[in-house]
Amino acid sequence: MTSIRRHPITGEPIVFAPERALRPNAFGPQSDICPFCPGHEHETPPEILRAGDPWRVRVFGNKYPMTQRHEVVVESARHDASFATIEDPESVVEAYVARYRDLASDSRLQNILIFKNHGAMAGASLAHVHSQIAGTTFVPPRVERERAAFRERCPLCVPPPRELIIAESEHFVRFAPHGSSFAYEQWIVPRQHEANFATMSGTRLSSFASELSSSARSIERISASYNWLVMNFRDDDAHWYVQAMPRLTTIAGFELGAGAMVSIVDPAEAAARLRD
Ligand SMILES: [Zn+2]
Ligand SMILES: [Zn+2]
Repeated sequence: MTSIRRHPITGEPIVFAPERALRPNAFGPQSDICPFCPGHEHETPPEILRAGDPWRVRVFGNKYPMTQRHEVVVESARHDASFATIEDPESVVEAYVARYRDLASDSRLQNILIFKNHGAMAGASLAHVHSQIAGTTFVPPRVERERAAFRERCPLCVPPPRELIIAESEHFVRFAPHGSSFAYEQWIVPRQHEANFATMSGTRLSSFASELSSSARSIERISASYNWLVMNFRDDDAHWYVQAMPRLTTIAGFELGAGAMVSIVDPAEAAARLRD
């Protein structure tokens, strides 16, 4: 059973999930041992959602849950696909939205985080392309801090300077933030001020799916490992966004001790390299 413990000084939540230690280290190209590959459906917890026939997207509970509600979204039947090459990113985003809405109706949950760990440096324990959805019974400290900042003003309603923009479309802008936490980090921000990504449908949803694909394509040119985080909020002052970052370096002593990140690449240079 997972439980919430507290930092001895600040009282901030620490997720205690000893079952996570039992995860198999199944990294590698052999698809015959991959529980996410077609033919191995019985090896995962019961399926919650499926798209396509044969399936292109599957959702099920995480076998080694980190939190009370923790799900896995397998984003392609192809073992060697990456988000840049999957056949149906739109169905994947539809699955994120559907699962988000369902988890949001669970009154015990204070926050739902959708994230991707791709590659060993990003913390993935399975190579097969997937994302995760974790509902927590607490508001994560990062979400709390950002919510408080949004109450003062919305920095995401201010257009970024031209040299930092990677791509723009009718509904989204993708850019390298001036204050990037990681080298070659990028954010996908909706032009419309909205707290919750799960209100999207139709053309905005398909446009978001293609932004995610382009973002993955640009990152995969730089690094085999990356994370993305869908930062989603429940109060109207906040503006949802995706933070996507290649994992070229590890988080080390300074970052851990100072609680401040060190970024070693000029974001304008990063934007130029990430542009198609
Ligand atoms: Zn596989
Ligand atoms: Zn805004």
